[in-house]
Amino acid sequence: MGYVEMLHEIPLEQLIAVIEVLQRSSDSWYYITDLTANRYIVTDKMMEKFPIDEKVTEGLGPLFAKLVYPTDLPKLREDIARCRSGEQNEHTMEYRWFDREGRIVWINCRGTMITGRDGHRFLFGRVTELGKEAKADNITGLRKEARFQYDTEELLRDRPQTINYMMRIGIDNFKEINEKEGMEAGDMVLRELADCIVETVDPKVDVYRLVTDEFMIVDAYPESDADPGEVYNEIRNKVDDTVRRKEYSCFYTVSAGIIEDGFEGKSAETILRLTEFALNEAKRNGKNQKARFDRNAYDDYLKRLDIRKLMRRDISNDFRNFEVFYQPIVSAGGYRLVGAEALLRWKCDKYGNVSPAVFIPILEESGLIIPVGRYVLWQAAQTCKKWREVLPDFHVNVNLSYVQIHKSDLMKDVNQCIAEVGIPPESLVLELTESGYIETDSRVKELFKELRSRQFDVALDDFGTGYSNMRYLQEIEAAMVKIDRSFVMQALQNEHDYNIIAHIIDMVHSLGSAVCMEGIEEEDELNKMMGIKPDMIQGYYFGRPMPASAFEETYLQTKDSP
Ligand code: C2E
Ligand code: MG
Ligand code: MG
Repeated sequence: MGYVEMLHEIPLEQLIAVIEVLQRSSDSWYYITDLTANRYIVTDKMMEKFPIDEKVTEGLGPLFAKLVYPTDLPKLREDIARCRSGEQNEHTMEYRWFDREGRIVWINCRGTMITGRDGHRFLFGRVTELGKEAKADNITGLRKEARFQYDTEELLRDRPQTINYMMRIGIDNFKEINEKEGMEAGDMVLRELADCIVETVDPKVDVYRLVTDEFMIVDAYPESDADPGEVYNEIRNKVDDTVRRKEYSCFYTVSAGIIEDGFEGKSAETILRLTEFALNEAKRNGKNQKARFDRNAYDDYLKRLDIRKLMRRDISNDFRNFEVFYQPIVSAGGYRLVGAEALLRWKCDKYGNVSPAVFIPILEESGLIIPVGRYVLWQAAQTCKKWREVLPDFHVNVNLSYVQIHKSDLMKDVNQCIAEVGIPPESLVLELTESGYIETDSRVKELFKELRSRQFDVALDDFGTGYSNMRYLQEIEAAMVKIDRSFVMQALQNEHDYNIIAHIIDMVHSLGSAVCMEGIEEEDELNKMMGIKPDMIQGYYFGRPMPASAFEETYLQTKDSP
């Protein structure tokens, strides 16, 4: 008979004495479970740490109910049942217990099954508190981000092909909940959502709490075929039910970013980044929805980040690679050159000439449009001064961005610019793109009012792209309304649209604004559009945007030039 088989002949007191001795030299806690007699025996030290009141507890059920974090109970019961039946001889599990203070503690429990002579099944083992990275989040009881990283590194290294999906879930407007309803309400929402997630997914699926208001679901058990989209929908329905049940005392919604493939060769760090991107996409698309990670969209996002970095470098290098181009604006009566629109260009070694439609929004998002806008303004003003020596009433149109209006002292910049350069205010036309919210934006209204009072002209750009509002036009007293090329195209293709535009232009005229027709490319386009009586024309037909030197050569040969 081997030593191990002798165990059952040793009186219980002696067995307890043995584990008590071992306990003295260990940070783990030792236990003996008689699975057949349903008895649990622990050391004194273990009783100090955990809510176990008796050295020998009869009946595992009530003890576990007190000791084990409820979500983990089913998994534990399954494992114990397999040990009891002889299906497995090792018990290894990481899960959560409560300590005496009611705190959640992540433990690793390992034990070996021994069958005694009388057929009793004993589990001998030890419980170890897991390291700091495994500590549960004390609001939701879930494992934290550090643990996600640790587990995921292992998963990605050992069996990436078994990953079914990872889903990052975020609470929409969590900050608002905390601010308006208080931190306690915020904590409650976190707990509720954690419960909704854990209730929805299979017990074999791991759930982590990441930063503040985000969770990560990792479904990587081999036979899993759950559809993450459906999982998300179910979680969302549960959240809706909870919010409804609580009579909307605290309203919130959740969004999700999902990644389903391409795990091979990635790090946990990368997974965090990609799921964050997908989650942000879901939020950008309006929140309360899911988004699957889209490689193309992500590459595009990375490219935009790169462009931003390159532009930032160029800006601090005295605006290297930036250049202001000028496109002629001619009068409709006689096609005489009356001015030019200043249009910004940026090129770089890596991406070549990048379209303003791409780089202007990047400058706006990053706030870089403020220094760059100033650069354009100064360039345009200096050029205008020079060209006015040849054409005294020449004016330059400069595009403004809403970001400049809201986040910089534009009035001060404009005043300072014309004073330093030495041009009259009427030589500048400041263009602002028409948009829906311009009407309700008091800052824009104030600025327009001040610009007008100081004799600057204002132009409403891209008129016809969606929000054309006559009442507003009257209010801002724009000197010029620029009709967008897309509007012109419609008019060229369709008689009905042509008539509508003709009427709109009549109305614009009756409000005292001049009309500049943009985007005329061909002679027949010009002839047809002349029928609706614009005041000015800007388009490739008369000239493309070009560098100042080319513009001078083409349009401004002075009398004394050869
Ligand atoms: P925008 O202010 O409406 O400028 C007119 C755009 O129409 C220019 O595009 C111009 O090249 C283009 N265009 C002019 N004539 C024709 C034509 O006959 N056919 C066609 N197909 N296009 C024509 P660009 O230069 O690509 O600029 C696009 C937009 O970028 C501008 O639209 C403006 O909103 C913005 N932008 C350009 N420079 C600046 C700037 O310095 N500051 C700000 N905030 N925005 C700028
Ligand atoms: Mg413009
Ligand atoms: Mg325009």
